[in-house]
Amino acid sequence: MADYETQIVVIAGGPSGLSAAVQAAEDGAEVIVIEKNAAIGGAANMGMGPLAIGSKYQQRQMIDITVEKALKMFMEYTHYNVDGRLVKRYFEQSAETIEWLEDMGVEFEGAFKYFTKSEATWHIVKTDQGIGPRAASFMNKALYARAQELGVTFMLETAGKKILKDDEGKVCGVVAVDKSGKEITIACKAAIICTGGAGANPEFIKEQTGYTFGVDMFNFAIPGNTGDGIRMAWEAGGDKVPVRIEQAANFEGIDELPQSVPNVLMQPNLLVNKNGKRVMDEEQMQNTTYLSNACTHAKGRVLYSIVDTSIVKYYMRNGVDEISMVRFNPDVSDFAEGVRIAEETGNKGLFKADSLEELAEKCGIDVDNLLETVDEYNDYCDGYDEEFFKRKKYLRPLTKAPYYAAAVRPGGYGTVGGIHINENCEVLDTELDPIPGLYAAGADACNIYDDSYMFLLPGNSMGFAVNTGRIAGMEAVEYIDGDED
Ligand SMILES: Cc1cc2nc3c(=O)[nH]c(=O)nc-3n(C[C@H](O)[C@H](O)[C@H](O)COP(=O)(O)OP(=O)(O)OC[C@H]3O[C@@H](n4cnc5c(N)ncnc54)[C@H](O)[C@@H]3O)c2cc1C
Repeated sequence: MADYETQIVVIAGGPSGLSAAVQAAEDGAEVIVIEKNAAIGGAANMGMGPLAIGSKYQQRQMIDITVEKALKMFMEYTHYNVDGRLVKRYFEQSAETIEWLEDMGVEFEGAFKYFTKSEATWHIVKTDQGIGPRAASFMNKALYARAQELGVTFMLETAGKKILKDDEGKVCGVVAVDKSGKEITIACKAAIICTGGAGANPEFIKEQTGYTFGVDMFNFAIPGNTGDGIRMAWEAGGDKVPVRIEQAANFEGIDELPQSVPNVLMQPNLLVNKNGKRVMDEEQMQNTTYLSNACTHAKGRVLYSIVDTSIVKYYMRNGVDEISMVRFNPDVSDFAEGVRIAEETGNKGLFKADSLEELAEKCGIDVDNLLETVDEYNDYCDGYDEEFFKRKKYLRPLTKAPYYAAAVRPGGYGTVGGIHINENCEVLDTELDPIPGLYAAGADACNIYDDSYMFLLPGNSMGFAVNTGRIAGMEAVEYIDGDED
């Protein structure tokens, strides 16, 4: 005998779950959302906004990005190693989703790039505090309010544990643990899994990706995101697809210092590995996924961004080369103060030295190789980067002590993937047939990037969450309506 009964159970209240709940309720279904935490919004409370392709903002801003262009770019980037039908449906719906969100009171600043080479697909949510991290929490609040207005029931501090299936293999319920610790059963016709991946589960990350959290992987670990939904889908007979880290490089430690320090060290500076050798055209450091990938191939999985005093002074006089929307304040005026704080607090991410030899020793970089690399690099600054073809505008010689370095390591926003879905967000079994009544959305089911997050179209993971949430919601309603006929 079930404790509760409804038509659709949405497991989790991040952006994918909230979007699924609102869409399903708008389409006429009775919905219960169970959310493990005491608050809704998940990882997206820290983010700034979703992707859209062909939105009215892009049209107004004369940004030439169409579904055709984005899809071709995306499929080539992933070597057609992902589900093109799912990507297409997500992109096709994304512009209308912006208006759907606006109808419930979400406002947008416009469409933005994350870094120079990316497309302006990132629709940053407007807040009363200007552009900045956590803007998307305003979107989550609006989705939550809309869901409540539509009569969706929320059970907070209630964690989904198991999907129940009947004799015919159709979903018939969800087992959860409520806030008093009691196991409850909710009878339903369809369930939508939206638990946001496993970023806060080091054992699961180790098992699935090989990385050791805090040793060679420094990803965000949003409390509650422990891979429950992935495990539930697999236990219900779902096909297993790779779980990956949504990589974004981590400048270990220096993010805690005044913003001047990360603003200087995150520029396309000289970047070397422990052997004192360069590894890439540093202009590409702006794509934080590429930078994180480069770190994973380096000895000790660490790289060092290095500047000298004349480069710091250049940034102070002329401003930094690259400004990101995340670091929307490009000020570097209190760099010296930041260094002082780093020294006083024993910060482990920033290194300062009076010579390159001392810097190499402090960082554990091969001294002779570093000296040789800097020598060659300084020559390239007078002519042409023969090694990695970095553009002249980013080439600046390192000549004047003190020198500064920051350690860069692999990091990420969390995990993506694990549950195999089709373009209707139906969870597929090992024969790749849909499990009747089981749907998944968001990070748990985000297998569309192949091995590397697609930062050239920013807003991609929140965009995927909101849009697949909606698709799962609409498809689940169609399924239960069809089942009841
Ligand atoms: C710092 C930061 C900034 C980011 N900025 C952006 C950005 O600007 N644009 C972008 O596209 N992406 C961004 N991302 C990524 C984006 O936030 C995620 O892709 C998105 O939130 C995924 O949505 P989701 O609904 O799948 O999961 P989440 O938002 O993580 O939500 C998952 C929810 O599931 C709940 N849960 C977990 N287990 C259970 C369970 N067993 N039962 C019930 N509930 C459960 C959790 O408590 C949580 O509320 C950012 C991420 C971080 C960490």
